[in-house]
Amino acid sequence: MTDFHVYDTTLRDGAQQEGLNLSVPDKLAIAGYLDQLGFGFVEGGWPGANPKDTEFFRRAATELRLQHAVLAAFGSTRRAGTEAAQDPQVLALVESGAPVVTLVAKSSPRHVVEALHTTLEENLAMVRDTVSFLVAQGRRVFVDAEHFFDSYVQDPAYPVQVVQEAFAAGAEVVALCDTNGGMLPPQVFRAVTELRAVTDGILGAHCHNDTGCAVANTLAAVDAGATHVQGTVNGYGERTGNADLVTVVANLQLKQGREVVDPAALAQALHLSHAVSEVTNIPPVGRQPYVGASAFAHKAGLHASALKVHPDLYQHTDPALVGNSMRTLVSDMAGRASIELKATELGYDLTHDRELAARTVKRVKDLEQDGWTFDAADASFELLLREEVTGEPLQYFATESWRIITDSGDGREALSEATVKLRAAGRRVVATGEGNGPVNALDHALREALADAYPELAGFELTDFRVRILDASHGTDATTRVLIETSDESSSWQTVGVAPNIVHASWTALVDSFSYGLLKRGVQPRP
Ligand SMILES: [Zn+2]
Repeated sequence: MTDFHVYDTTLRDGAQQEGLNLSVPDKLAIAGYLDQLGFGFVEGGWPGANPKDTEFFRRAATELRLQHAVLAAFGSTRRAGTEAAQDPQVLALVESGAPVVTLVAKSSPRHVVEALHTTLEENLAMVRDTVSFLVAQGRRVFVDAEHFFDSYVQDPAYPVQVVQEAFAAGAEVVALCDTNGGMLPPQVFRAVTELRAVTDGILGAHCHNDTGCAVANTLAAVDAGATHVQGTVNGYGERTGNADLVTVVANLQLKQGREVVDPAALAQALHLSHAVSEVTNIPPVGRQPYVGASAFAHKAGLHASALKVHPDLYQHTDPALVGNSMRTLVSDMAGRASIELKATELGYDLTHDRELAARTVKRVKDLEQDGWTFDAADASFELLLREEVTGEPLQYFATESWRIITDSGDGREALSEATVKLRAAGRRVVATGEGNGPVNALDHALREALADAYPELAGFELTDFRVRILDASHGTDATTRVLIETSDESSSWQTVGVAPNIVHASWTALVDSFSYGLLKRGVQPRP
């Protein structure tokens, strides 16, 4: 369906999200990812209103090589009582060079009178003049009818007039906006159905998520005849966000059979949505539909035994279609089936050795009793599994002892110093490391101690460290669980450690993280 528009506003409306700040290079990088997602239109910002956005369009002209997407500049209708050709804001839209200009137009009488301080007639003239001026300048003009649905529910007459005025002046698309995000799908469906009956132009939907219905409202608009959908990657946007465009596209494509983007692009959705998260520096949400890390993760033992036979029994779609994959979580809810399934996922076959499988299940259950969890620590689980399969632990070095001193005083920052004693590559090594905290110091000391035996460690970086106090009713006697994430240039992995002492728990997770990283690189132990 090449005449169906997928229009992304991550760089403009999405950037309104609290805590989200994009530089021009960030915006250029994200525009590249949006293009790879197969979206037809990328709204780059509001040139003229914002110097960063003006620069974005200037640099986009030479630095972006878009395969699918057409750039759109966002702006507003001319000011009241002026001419479009004289309005600097309108001229900046032309100067941006963007082939598409999207104009926000007021479609609610209250907003025209109370926010714009003008008359309803003048507002219609502003729509007419600005659209026809930009069309005469050779631009494709889209109009965002602001507060359309709120206004329509009150009285359809004026908002419908605004839409008709925009089409009559040459607008190619009118996107109906649920600006306050308060609509429900039946209201959207009804309004678009009624409007569809009185106009032939391309209708679109721009929905915010304040009722949790942004995606549902967008789909309702499509059901009623809209053929243009707006939204943002990862649902970014102010308040509760905009319609998540990846979810919208996946639903249209996988549930309704409308091919709105290239299936090969959709198969990159997880990778690209996470790549955008890297740029925005907002961690991906695990429960995000289709592309969340948990979107196809199964925990219950009962599900797992059925999943082994037929993955589609408990999945609404094939995760590969959006670049995701099924995962089994190893947890205390898990029976033998889910551990076998997890083992298969990691490349170990437990299905033919009942005794081995039973032994592994028992060990996992015992550890979970003590506060361990392998849900988020695949690497530690793989080391455990490997040990059960081979009958011996993987030992890259033999620890003799470790020790931490933390020193502080009046107004001085605390500084930790760690000493590690171990045997590796046939030698006894004593090394020290400093850090702003005990774990940091331990990480440095352990790297120092192993630097000669395992130079590969230099490529590992500790990227996340999370501490959870279990059994808090015991106060300081509580058990501590530490989760560590480590990365190298190609991947990242998670390990876990549990102990009454936080540094001890960290040490366990740290040793696992180094061992797993070395194992993955095919490094043989040099004890
Ligand atoms: Zn919006």
